[in-house]
Amino acid sequence: MDALYLIKIGEITLKDGNQAEFVARLKRDIKRRLRGIPSVLESKEARYYLSVPTEYEEYAEFALSRTPGVNGWAKARRCAKDMATIRALAIELMREKAAEGPRSFKVEARRSDKSFALGSYDIARELGGAVLEALPELRVDVHAPEALLYVEIREQAYVYTDGRKGVRGLPVGSGGTGLLMLSGGIDSPVAGYRMIGRGLALESLYFHSYPYTSQEAWDKVRDLALILASFQGGMTMHTASFTELQLKIRKDAPEDRATLYLRACMVMAADMLAKKRGLNCVVSGESLGQVASQTAENMRFTGSYTDLAILRPLAGTDKEDTVRTARQIGSFELSILPYEDCCVLFSPKHPVLKARYESEKAAFDALGFRDIVAASVDAIESVELDYPGPKGLPRAPRR
Ligand code: ATP
Ligand code: MG
Repeated sequence: MDALYLIKIGEITLKDGNQAEFVARLKRDIKRRLRGIPSVLESKEARYYLSVPTEYEEYAEFALSRTPGVNGWAKARRCAKDMATIRALAIELMREKAAEGPRSFKVEARRSDKSFALGSYDIARELGGAVLEALPELRVDVHAPEALLYVEIREQAYVYTDGRKGVRGLPVGSGGTGLLMLSGGIDSPVAGYRMIGRGLALESLYFHSYPYTSQEAWDKVRDLALILASFQGGMTMHTASFTELQLKIRKDAPEDRATLYLRACMVMAADMLAKKRGLNCVVSGESLGQVASQTAENMRFTGSYTDLAILRPLAGTDKEDTVRTARQIGSFELSILPYEDCCVLFSPKHPVLKARYESEKAAFDALGFRDIVAASVDAIESVELDYPGPKGLPRAPRR
């Protein structure tokens, strides 16, 4: 037997002119994630329907929960459009649901087929009554139900009890391409997730400073990239060595400028790599004021080392919200592992807070970091991270 999934798309439906292109992209993406699995994906009206053999349910649910452009999904049952059949199915599904514990419920009916004899209010009332009769331990609660029974009357009838949320947003790649500056912290994986959800296809760039930073630190960033790969459907991860550069900064730059100049060099490297790879923008996890050095003045200074747009989706996000998203996508537990990031090689006690643009650029440029940055970009090592699938994150290749 096959499991049937009803898929809701959201923002795509607002696209007037090029909706077909968004839809095609989304379908391709879902099919790609289910490669090797005999699946059928159809679209009818504003819904998609995916069916897979039941032994592959886990794969389908993993994919639907992580594909940008999918607003929500539900494992549904399909039946003929007559009330007797729908009633029997509704009772069967609510009986299964009640076994999980809920004691109150509400029916949500939607009638897209306007030729169907009953309106949505009448459908809900009739099914609610039938369920109450069959399962007297339940009661109806329209304000705070513990369970929901959904019925949709379309070309056929669809009945389900568990509606699940998707990533929402737009299909991967519909917003172009970008380079994510991915560290081992809490913010940048969330920044990447946000932009993937807006349709950007991302590659990631990590700066390490071996031996001052460890193999474990790299493994951790790779695992974070794998989480992003599960949403994006794969990801190329680049690693640049900044050891030599950091030592030069420590030797030549004023102590209170060390972090600021390192950030400028990171942007410079990101710019070079993005252009080599033909990527359209840079994404960073900076958040205004989160650490004292993340000021608009400092972002202006560091941002001046690329002419690409730097997208900072967390610029206006509260840390609590970022942490909530990190927990939800599963990156939080990894991010708080204690392996050191490259910036701890020097942590100025009193970092400069508001770089003065002209003078700071002159001072930075005079130190001549560009050649070392270019050399580290030339020596970048890259790994292709496959879409990981639901069976936990596989051990991807080590460098
Ligand atoms: P995160 O939690 O993402 O590390 P953060 O709040 O710790 O962010 P910073 O360490 O100041 O902030 O870094 C700001 C941004 O610069 C990061 O979000 C990330 O985009 C980028 N960045 C910092 N360190 C690295 C690194 N080692 N490799 C790649 N990008 C980095
Ligand atoms: Mg950090």
